[in-house]
Amino acid sequence: MIIKNEELREIIRRIALLNALSYKGKTRVQPVLGKLLAEQPHLKERVKEVSSLIAEVVQEVNNLSLSEQQRIVEEKWPEALVKEKVEKEKRLPPLPNADKYAQVVTRFSPNPDCVLHLGSARAIILCYEYSRMYRGKFILRFEDTDPKLKRPVLEFYDRIREDLAWLGCKPDEEYIQSDRIPIYYEYAEKLLRDGNAYICACQPERFREKILASKPCECRNLPSEEQLERWRRMLEGSYREGEVVFRVKTDLNHPNPAVRDWPALRVIDAEKYPHPRVGSKYRVWPLYNFACGIDDHLMGVTHIIRGKEHLTNMVRQEYMYKYLGWQYPEAIHYGRLKITGASLSKSKIVQGIREGLYKDWDDPRLATFAALRRRGITPEAIKKMIIDVGPKTSDVILSWENMYAYNRKILDPTADRYFFVHNPIELTVKQIPKVFMARLHLHPDQPERGFREYTIKPQGDKNSAGFWVSKKDVDDSKIGNIIRLMELFNIEIESVNAYSAQASFISESYEEVRKTKSQLIHWIPVGEDMPCQVVMPDATVAEGIAESACKQLKPNSIIQFERFGFVRIDKVNTKLTAYYAHK
Ligand SMILES: [Zn+2]
Repeated sequence: MIIKNEELREIIRRIALLNALSYKGKTRVQPVLGKLLAEQPHLKERVKEVSSLIAEVVQEVNNLSLSEQQRIVEEKWPEALVKEKVEKEKRLPPLPNADKYAQVVTRFSPNPDCVLHLGSARAIILCYEYSRMYRGKFILRFEDTDPKLKRPVLEFYDRIREDLAWLGCKPDEEYIQSDRIPIYYEYAEKLLRDGNAYICACQPERFREKILASKPCECRNLPSEEQLERWRRMLEGSYREGEVVFRVKTDLNHPNPAVRDWPALRVIDAEKYPHPRVGSKYRVWPLYNFACGIDDHLMGVTHIIRGKEHLTNMVRQEYMYKYLGWQYPEAIHYGRLKITGASLSKSKIVQGIREGLYKDWDDPRLATFAALRRRGITPEAIKKMIIDVGPKTSDVILSWENMYAYNRKILDPTADRYFFVHNPIELTVKQIPKVFMARLHLHPDQPERGFREYTIKPQGDKNSAGFWVSKKDVDDSKIGNIIRLMELFNIEIESVNAYSAQASFISESYEEVRKTKSQLIHWIPVGEDMPCQVVMPDATVAEGIAESACKQLKPNSIIQFERFGFVRIDKVNTKLTAYYAHK
């Protein structure tokens, strides 16, 4: 998941050196590439580029003497020499100054204007995990103070709560900013009274000109009595939207003009833009930095963990903290996390839903938690991935494949196996010499989990039985081939047309086909079937037939359709509906 080239080079160096140590000081490109791709499967997309980097490093390493190689490894990766294979449970690095505080308090503060998606995973999981690591407190705070441009929607408050519960990150406390408006007013008034803020009634362009030139506008130095009078009029509704802005004073010469005298509260037309929770009760609404800054202090947040795009917000808020005599919390700003191929834009998600492009918030094409949940991506996989990435400040690019790899590790030992035949055709097998009892393991490594059992009883004068198999497993090119029906017997394909195929029984033993490396295919006895559709990640539907044992499955269970992929069972009635997770 690390994409920076110097880091990648270092990883390759470690692998190449360890490999050289096992082979008398000489390494080669192939084994290094193999090991690298096993560790970092997403690099498969960049094999060419990576291979040439490996070739360089391999040459470098081969030019070193064995003892030099030994010394470098001892110095840089001593643990690798002890046990190369031990996979360490990755822990988060410690928080700065955690022992300065009686209790570590973190918060996740979404705007309920959309459901949550993978883009929030880092904030949620890091804040929650750190609060557990230090036996602290994790706060959920709904930041819903923009009824105009980032209008909150009632259903999302609950959806966000559900998402957090699903992720296993249940908050210890919850606050909603729209319940706290009087608190923000109180601090606004204090800032005005102390001369640390002002109400600006300038035209926005006029203010901009002044501030860019580091000059105060006409409102800035008016006495606090005048400011308080403007404040009173602001609250009672004498100003229309856009006429005045409450600003917190900063250094007018601050190198970043966006920091200078930042806006803290403004008027919103309460009739035109009623708030979904409090209606038209308030006309003056705090902006992000003001409400968030006040709350972090009042809620006792000790560690703010958020993306580095918030660095400027910290600079803004620090002025207010100084005026109020407060200590700014510890702030950890992590780098951007991108998931290639996942749209993490709230506005695009909302627009797609509105235009009917997506069926719902859990449409499999979306990277919302609801969609991931429906597809059988486990919260444990997301958690593990985020903890492995940690709070580092460099940007990180992950792919869906990375997440699938985490999820596969969790599902592989737990998911029961079943057969699903995609694009089925009926295969008739003749000359079956006896009745076969097929016992198919629910899990190949865990026989104690039991079996699915099917009896194959040859019928008629040709001793034949019918099976559903996938068309692509027995297509024209396979005529004359020996194929094994998994865990059953070996057959020879004799003819294939669009709807059916004919074959003859050849033998029973697996050993026989193992030598010839014959294909093993899955099958369902005709009559032991149920219709099944699998909704794929691109929202297309794979139609087929599932084996009758699937009738016992419960919705929400995650299974593996062998040779097809992991799926989450969505509905079970006369038809089975599943959602595809990954291979
Ligand atoms: Zn002004």
